[in-house]
Order: sequence, then C-alpha cells, then structure tokens
Amino acid sequence: CSARAVGRHQPHAETQRMSFFVAMCCIASLLLGMPCFSTVRTSRKPHNVASARAQVSCRKARHAQKRLRFNERNPMSRKPLIAGNWKMNKTPAESVVLSQGISNRYSRKWNKVDVVLCPPTIDLRSVFTVLDFDKSNIDVGAQNCHWEPSGAFTGETSIPMLKDVGAAWCIVGHSERRDYFGETDSMVNKKVRALAESSFNAIVCVGESLAVRDAGDAVRFVCDQVRAALAGLDAHEAEYCTIAYEPIWAIGTGRTATPEQAILSFVSVKQAEEIAAAIRATVADLVGEQAAANMRVLYGGSMKPENADGFMACPNIDGGLIGGASLKVEDFCGLVEIASG
Ligand code: PEP
Repeated sequence: CSARAVGRHQPHAETQRMSFFVAMCCIASLLLGMPCFSTVRTSRKPHNVASARAQVSCRKARHAQKRLRFNERNPMSRKPLIAGNWKMNKTPAESVVLSQGISNRYSRKWNKVDVVLCPPTIDLRSVFTVLDFDKSNIDVGAQNCHWEPSGAFTGETSIPMLKDVGAAWCIVGHSERRDYFGETDSMVNKKVRALAESSFNAIVCVGESLAVRDAGDAVRFVCDQVRAALAGLDAHEAEYCTIAYEPIWAIGTGRTATPEQAILSFVSVKQAEEIAAAIRATVADLVGEQAAANMRVLYGGSMKPENADGFMACPNIDGGLIGGASLKVEDFCGLVEIASG
C-alpha cells in the first residue's frame, strides 16, 4: 500500500500548474543559492539511500531554520505544538492509511502550528514517506531512542538510525517507559543530552502519579523530574527540548475535564497551568530566563477536541502530547485546528 495509492489525484490542468510552480521555485532557489530548497521541492520521493539521506539532511536544515525563527520571535508567542503519540498501535500498512488521512486534511492554517506524528519505530519510514510525498509540513518523531550511536544494545534504536528514516523528534521519558520498562531519571537525562548533541528535538515527558498528587507533592515531584532530565544542558542545547506535562493518572483515562466540568473533574486546567508555570520557572533556574521563555510546555492526558480549548488558552501551555485521540483522524486534526486558532 503505497503513499501514491492512497494519495490525491490532481486533474491534468492542476498538474501542469503545479509543474510550472515547481519549475519556477527551482529557478528561484538556484538564483537565491538555496540548494536544499531545490532538492526538497524537486525530488518527490527518496529513490535510494543516498537521496533519502540528502532529503533528511534538507529537512534538518529546515528544522534549524524553524528553530531560529522560533527563538527570534517574541517569547510570549511560542508556536503551538501538537504531537501524536501512537504508542504500540498501527502496523506499517495501517500507519500509511492514518498518516495519509491526517495529511489529506492539511491546510495552510496548520502552518501556525508544529505538528508531529510519533508512530512505532517500524512505521517511521512509511509515515515519513507519506508526509514527504505530500509536502504537508508535518514532522515525524520516534517514541524512544538509545543514547549511544551504535553498539551491543539488542532491541534498541539509535539517534543516527532515527535520523536516517526521516525522524526529527523523539519522545523521551514517557511514564509508560518509566513504569513498565524501568527508565530512570538518569537514563532520561542521557537520552535528552544525546538528542541535543545530535541537534534532534526531544519531547521530554514528566508527570506525577495520583499518590504523589494526593500527598500534595505534585509541583516538587514534577520540577525534580525536569531538573534531572535537563541536567548538564546549556541554554543552546535546551533549545532542542520541549517539556510535556502528563499527569500519569490522566493518561488514557478520559478523566480530563472539559472547561465546564473543570470544577468537578480530576484534573483542572488551573492545576495544569500551575504545574506548567512551575516547570517554566525551573527551566529558567537551570538554563536562564530566555531559554525558559522560548521553551514549549505541552499538556498531555486524555486531551480531545472537546476539552482542548481551556488548556490551549493557558499562558504556559503551548500545545499537547496526544495519545488516544492521535489515532483518530477527526480528533487529531480537530486538535490541530484548535491550536491553529
Ligand atoms: C500519552 O500517553 O502521551 C497520552 C497523552 O495519552 P492519552 O491522550 O491517551 O491520555
């Protein structure tokens, strides 16, 4: 099942218009001395490993530019980020269908948001190919990585391997990895540092259990996790990090409130904003005010179009890490639309 098989068919006249546009872009990029632009825009698909690598490095260059623009602008207008964590769902064939469904809904408005799909490792190449073919400006991310570039680590995936299949993001320290696979703060820190050293974007997950919250210790617990994850990073390296605050007891439970229900619900927007603000203050303490002002803090935990508005409106929440809802085209795209404003 190829991307082409489920892609959109252009009428003949439109195809001609597109060809003319691409040709004009190529000439413009040659005149302006932008080799990456011409490579990305003219090669539809990677034909071999070398051209695939060339495309990946071009995407990297675009990421660097994106980051630069992001850091240069008013810190209070951080670009929202919506990342879908597919967890252990979707075979490679199914991943093509889901990513194609999302890509088909792509519109210009989405440029106001950074959108990342994080499928299982085995799906990365397929999803990257679909998105790259459609030029939909949606990025691909992994759910985990090892901190070493290669070696005797059976079952693991290194950062250079992820880069090679087109990923530019990696989720680190998800509570399921911490709880089920024994990932410690120290391992999270090694991964975050390795990602930053490789100019790779990390989505670093933190969040308290219900027992910690009930003990009134949530802010301290989460801020300690942030300190441990970012230990040893300088302000420049911290630019590669996004923090995702995910209260463990809200993940996959549907226990997140709609704004109307907030007063009765288990997690309120106010509580999430309080922790997000504390995370930002901790980052400021670690790597400085500017880096903290630039860093995106996401909320995660049963976020859906019905309850997203309140979270998105919080001054310290810059988007969402989405689990269950990222597996449904309608819901995920609905969240991107809300984040687009
Ligand atoms: C997650 O696991 O990162 C997550 C936010 O899941 P869900 O949206 O299903 O709660």
